[in-house]
Amino acid sequence: MQSNWQNKIIQFMRGRYGVFDPLNKMLLILTAILLILNLFTAIPLLGLLPLLLLVLVYYRFFSKRIYVRSNENQKYLRWQNKVKNFFKLKKEAVQNRKTYAYFHCPHCKKALRAPKGKGKIKVTCSQCQQQFTKKV
Ligand SMILES: [Zn+2]
Repeated sequence: MQSNWQNKIIQFMRGRYGVFDPLNKMLLILTAILLILNLFTAIPLLGLLPLLLLVLVYYRFFSKRIYVRSNENQKYLRWQNKVKNFFKLKKEAVQNRKTYAYFHCPHCKKALRAPKGKGKIKVTCSQCQQQFTKKV
């Protein structure tokens, strides 16, 4: 048998988002960073920001608009993936800088690479199939 307060919590959480998603996790990390920053700086508005972020985290957690919150999180994940890929590619470009030239497709902006030192080459984009010449 469930105690009264457990029932109350279950009642309260019914139909609410109630997920500690990656977006909320990132917001909490941001809150922690801002709190630490506040120890060293005395910018008035910066002191309020962690509180606002915390309110936002709670608001999202207890929100009844589950689809809206879920969409926000999906958007955040897509953005996070883009950032991750960007740095992964930069790291790879540095590691292979002697053997590969890295560039973007002028039509669709896809990141491409070709072996270095071949002179002027004809490149076919693997994504949009457009052709262009590139000096590598
Ligand atoms: Zn392309």
